[in-house]
Amino acid sequence: VLVSMSEKDATATIINPINNQSYALEPGIVDVMSQSRDYNELLWAWLGWHNNAGRAVKEEFSEMVQLLNKCAQENGYKDASVVWKLGDYDDAGIESSMDALMAEIMPLYRKLHAFVRKKLYDFYIKKNSSSSTTKFGEVAEEINKFEPDGYIPAHILGNIFCQHWTNILDLVLPFPGAPPTDLTSVMKKKNFTVHKMFKVAEEFFTSMGFQPMTAIFWKESVVQRPADPNVKMVCHASAFDMVRKDDYRIKMCAQVVEDDFHTVHHEMGHVVYFMEYQHLPRIFTNGANSAFHEAVGDTIGLSTTTSKHLKSVGLSSDDDEDGVTQNDDLMERALEKLAFIPYGYIIDKWRFRAFRGDITPDQYNDDWWRLIRKYQGLNAPVVRKFTDFDPGAKHHVPANVPYSRYFFSYIGQFQFYESLCREAGERGPLYNCDFYRSKKAGRKLGRMLKKGNSVPWRALMRELTGQSDFKTSSILKYFKPLSDWLDENIKDVPIGWPSGDE
Ligand SMILES: [Zn+2]
Repeated sequence: VLVSMSEKDATATIINPINNQSYALEPGIVDVMSQSRDYNELLWAWLGWHNNAGRAVKEEFSEMVQLLNKCAQENGYKDASVVWKLGDYDDAGIESSMDALMAEIMPLYRKLHAFVRKKLYDFYIKKNSSSSTTKFGEVAEEINKFEPDGYIPAHILGNIFCQHWTNILDLVLPFPGAPPTDLTSVMKKKNFTVHKMFKVAEEFFTSMGFQPMTAIFWKESVVQRPADPNVKMVCHASAFDMVRKDDYRIKMCAQVVEDDFHTVHHEMGHVVYFMEYQHLPRIFTNGANSAFHEAVGDTIGLSTTTSKHLKSVGLSSDDDEDGVTQNDDLMERALEKLAFIPYGYIIDKWRFRAFRGDITPDQYNDDWWRLIRKYQGLNAPVVRKFTDFDPGAKHHVPANVPYSRYFFSYIGQFQFYESLCREAGERGPLYNCDFYRSKKAGRKLGRMLKKGNSVPWRALMRELTGQSDFKTSSILKYFKPLSDWLDENIKDVPIGWPSGDE
């Protein structure tokens, strides 16, 4: 079931009615979603992908839920959700931590949502500049209207899954006159290749005292989609510990763009973790928990994308004062990190409900959108039916990869980051701290990585951060200047969204 679902997900394509070309998710649909500012073209891409990739795996997903639960029950657990929680965190009660953290993030998220909704409403509806074209035809489905105090339609946030909103940064900049560094254009100007992006990431890790990538890594990793269009490849980026000496690899379809610059750091963080704990007995060669594994590369990424760091390595395009760009930089980070958190929350929240039998297959899609409306304040651009299966459009659902690890990682990485900043002796505002070349910060992080999962994760968290659990204090401190700025700038804007369907 799993193999069949993953293949359907990886190879689904949609046809563009204008040029008759076939679009795969990467790079075709991803590019349309990030670059187009045409309401109808975006709707075409969003709908095409969800109808094709999603519906195709609906039956098999229900079948898989039954199989996973059967397996869990044969091993003495109530259902598969318990197995996932124990497997990832050694803690069957972790879901209540998720709920509590989410509740602490919501007030800040609502402010970001209010500001973004206003900007998108002005651009797409009020100005009505780009929604007048009908070249992608009328959709047969019933449209969900975009209201200034309602949900944001899910197809205009620059990302097919709305997990990161950085691609609409130009529409929501606090100070449009002095935009922050556009890393994509800086890299293009400097003739970056995909290989160069990997070398830059590697150099950050080695500057902190970590080992460089191995010869096998450079030889065996596949980092670009093969030129031959007949070669089918699952593009979803991943890192592999091949469990042979020096054999670590990354697989991704990278392009020289800012999103992928982040992804390269993320994946390399996994490899550094593999390398640091490989001296341990086999049963301990894993992350302290799966969220820690996801957080390593992102923690480094928080440092590499500060304007301070980009300036210091000549990857900056702006000569603006930090004071002017501060909220632009923070807005960009908020679209990447803060926007993600409710998304990272609902995917497993929904799967836990499916595993527990709280929802039946006929309720799957409705419940999915109920959670998206409630926590993300977004809605499908058209009315969806119970025969649709929109969660299936996301790789991790048909591939059966747990997702709460990303939710916890996006909170924990700010705790890691703050701790490494302190260790590096950085004294400025948290959002602009750079621990590049700090061997001290490297040693501190390394001490945790070297222990793999031979020590309970809460003990390692305490050792690294002084806090013995996931906490929102660091991420809230990081975004405090933006939060204050938003308070001033959304005074006349509605905040929140209808919660009638809860
Ligand atoms: Zn990862």
